[in-house]
Amino acid sequence: MQGYILHTHRVKDEDLIVSILTPHKLKTLYRFYGARHASVHIGYKIDFEAIHSAKSSLPMLREVLPLAFSWIFEKERFFYWQQFLKLLYKHLKDVNELDPFYFELLEDTAHTIAKQNPKRTLIESYLQLLYHEGRLHTELVCFICDKPIQTNLTLKRSFLCAHPSCLFGVAFARNKIQNLFETHSTIALDDSEIDLLWQIVQEGL
Ligand SMILES: [Zn+2]
Repeated sequence: MQGYILHTHRVKDEDLIVSILTPHKLKTLYRFYGARHASVHIGYKIDFEAIHSAKSSLPMLREVLPLAFSWIFEKERFFYWQQFLKLLYKHLKDVNELDPFYFELLEDTAHTIAKQNPKRTLIESYLQLLYHEGRLHTELVCFICDKPIQTNLTLKRSFLCAHPSCLFGVAFARNKIQNLFETHSTIALDDSEIDLLWQIVQEGL
């Protein structure tokens, strides 16, 4: 079985509880410490086996084989990737059955993040997530006063839009955000705008 490690939690000194995103489930497994175990880090894609045992109420994580990406040792790229996976864990941790969309999104993202600014890739992935969940509102209506936005706008968590007069925050040009929401592409945005959008993503998916 293959999956992405979204979360680890240390227990009893060296053992770990590990949450792994697979196509249909966020699996929680128990990893007993042992010198022969491959390292388990948030952000890694691994091949593994889940073994049920009387020793533990959780299935045991065994036969871990890391599946490397070409960019995994690029510190900055891997850092932003990990940040996104931590946010995804918080977003999915209470969901029982998952749509394969989330696993496939990480498959695509792991491929595209190798080629451009990691924050751009992750913002584009987040737009796909919002669209998939029916939370991307391309009509650009202010969520405070419920009136359409004509020129500039500010953005809140989940990329909700508001008039700068209704909600304090950095103003974005309406046409740029419209383009972003319709195409899921950051090509029309400069790096300073990407940094601002990334700050909003970090508030939570
Ligand atoms: Zn308004």
